[in-house]
Amino acid sequence: MDFLVLLLFYSAVVLVGGAATCVCWRTRSLTGLARGGTQIFSYIIPECLQRAMLSLLHYLFHTRNYTFIILHLILQWMVYTEYTWEIFGYCRDLDFSLCYLLLPYLLLIVNLAFFTLSSVTDPGTITKANELSLLQVYEFDEVTFPKNVRCSTCDLRKPARSKHCGVCNRCVHRFDHHCVWVNNCIGAWNARYFLIYLLTLTASAAAVAVVSTVFLVRVVALSDLYLQTYIDDLGHSHVIDIFVLVQYLFLTFPRIVFLLGFVVMLSFLLGGFLCFVLYLAATNQTMNEWYRGDRAWYQHCSQVAGAPSAESQVYRNIHSHGLWSNLGEIFLPAAAHYEKKRT
Ligand SMILES: [Zn+2]
Ligand SMILES: [Zn+2]
Repeated sequence: MDFLVLLLFYSAVVLVGGAATCVCWRTRSLTGLARGGTQIFSYIIPECLQRAMLSLLHYLFHTRNYTFIILHLILQWMVYTEYTWEIFGYCRDLDFSLCYLLLPYLLLIVNLAFFTLSSVTDPGTITKANELSLLQVYEFDEVTFPKNVRCSTCDLRKPARSKHCGVCNRCVHRFDHHCVWVNNCIGAWNARYFLIYLLTLTASAAAVAVVSTVFLVRVVALSDLYLQTYIDDLGHSHVIDIFVLVQYLFLTFPRIVFLLGFVVMLSFLLGGFLCFVLYLAATNQTMNEWYRGDRAWYQHCSQVAGAPSAESQVYRNIHSHGLWSNLGEIFLPAAAHYEKKRT
């Protein structure tokens, strides 16, 4: 019973923590919280340790490095090793369909292919050669993306929707975000690969979770354990309930139950992030625009005396031209750019 309560408690803490981080990020209170937290830690932790932590964080999040790629591959390797050595074998013994059991491997292969593509494809680096051509692709809204702005680092004119990535030290066309997991920016040319990578990663975690759950349910069903009773410390007889069943499964298949907890949590976290990315794709917004959008439009609208709130709604989505057109822009970026430049 203790194990299940702890697992549920940890899951709830991670999910609530993730949701709270998203809300804080959206409402810009995360910066204030981080600043307050840093101040408290500066009194507790010695200065040399603080410097070491800061340089480690700087290396991890502000320089291009392979740490998260290696971590990503290690985690995937661990999940699939456990799946292959235990779950797959047990499920074959229980006559599970082979197609069903091979689905997580198929998703893994597709996922690794799109992981590589997201990582190695140029996201849309702006250079002297393509600067003029990219300037014509998107309309300037004069609020989030004003006309005739130069990047102080690259000394190039910034096309609408572009941003200078401090980690990669380059301006990226239709900049979305810098992803540490693929060690690359996500921009106009690799957003489609990133979307499929995220989709297959979520699907593979969910597929492993479903196979593991079905296996454990089948084990319980075959053992008739749920029909039996047990005697507690006081000598009272009880029908076996879900808590006892989970405890029994954890003691019999500890690695599988642990793996199941991990992939279920991962499926929810990745699923939530995937929904957010799909929402942005469907409404033709980048993560950078979503983050900067509200503040810029709020400042703009507050400068326009008596501006009705509906006005900001009209301006906010100037790049959205319907669901299929928005998705086409991500999946067929070259064709979409050609169309926009022609009109
Ligand atoms: Zn730049
Ligand atoms: Zn970058």
